[in-house]
Amino acid sequence: MGASSSSPALLVQCSNDAAVARVPALFVASDFCRQPGFGKHHPLSIPRVSAVLELCGALGWIDDGCMRTSRVATRAQLAGFHDPEYVEALRASDAAGRVEPAVRERHGFGNFENPLFPGVFERAATAVGGSILAAELALEGRVVFHPAGGTHHGRRDRASGFCYFNDPVFAIRRLLEAGVGRVLYVDLDAHHGDGVQEAFLDEPRVRVVSIHEQGRWPHSGAIEDVGHGYACNLPVPSGFNDSELEFLLDTVVSPLAAAFAPQAVVVTCGTDALAGDPLSGLALSNVALWDAVERVIGHSGPAVVLGGGGYNPWTLARCWTGLWGRLGGRAIPVELPGPARLILASLECDLVEDEDVDAAWLSTLADTPRPGPVRDAVKSLARQGRALHGLA
Ligand SMILES: [Zn+2]
Repeated sequence: MGASSSSPALLVQCSNDAAVARVPALFVASDFCRQPGFGKHHPLSIPRVSAVLELCGALGWIDDGCMRTSRVATRAQLAGFHDPEYVEALRASDAAGRVEPAVRERHGFGNFENPLFPGVFERAATAVGGSILAAELALEGRVVFHPAGGTHHGRRDRASGFCYFNDPVFAIRRLLEAGVGRVLYVDLDAHHGDGVQEAFLDEPRVRVVSIHEQGRWPHSGAIEDVGHGYACNLPVPSGFNDSELEFLLDTVVSPLAAAFAPQAVVVTCGTDALAGDPLSGLALSNVALWDAVERVIGHSGPAVVLGGGGYNPWTLARCWTGLWGRLGGRAIPVELPGPARLILASLECDLVEDEDVDAAWLSTLADTPRPGPVRDAVKSLARQGRALHGLA
């Protein structure tokens, strides 16, 4: 996909990196990652994976040996989870450039939340194809990063929450089809991973764990919601800090993962849980998210790390770039070099006021950690979570 062409002088070989402990991590992307989607005025119209690819290139963290190109999922593949009528409705509406009112009503797209825009079908199908590919590559014992994935709200027969299809579901399904007996899914996005939970409600081979902001759309994923026994929800209060995330990992997520003994892990790492995101009220540093992903994928060999939400282009680009660096065992620079700063300086976002753009977002990759007290509400969540999931 030519991701390295912009900075040929800065190429490094992943396999030469002494810090890589296992099979080198792979980065799955597509040409869609470089194209804007969703039209103007949508929260997802900001540069996202394109900025990550540019930043990684500027740091010399991308080369053709690390890159894999997403395939477009076929309609037959999409129908493995989604209602074929829905798949066809999205395809036909995209081709026609319009949505019939009855289709909009039935399938939830063609509105502000899930707009119809040129190429939406192929773009969404490519996210699915990328996650299927990521799962296949992970089966080789790798960590595979697919930041264009993470559309965790997509439902079998309708779009929801900016998600048309549900690519995490396909990554998990591909792992199961390959004979993986236990898949752990951990969702660190600020919003409940409702679509993934629903997809595997009756599936004992999959544990779905979601840490998300309490009281935030889609207003599901209460602590008592264990689905049919295979889901763990941890709805956290606004202002959720690094210490509180570490506490929940220590007391609930890691013990649950250890008990389940997954043979593969899929993580959705939306960046909307970071401080500064305009659509959530959580307050994590990116370092805390990197640590969390590393801890979660440490429970198995094969691992798929997906993107997800994230509506602040600076915090998103820095987080996923640094995550790719960490997955490859690279040292995170204290100060970014000039070309990387220029990329960050070029970003714009209607949802973030100019005076709210932190100077550190333009010159560094790693946030200053954001520790804090572990509040009673979080301790209570941990107690309830441990009791509900047999960890007490
Ligand atoms: Zn989200």
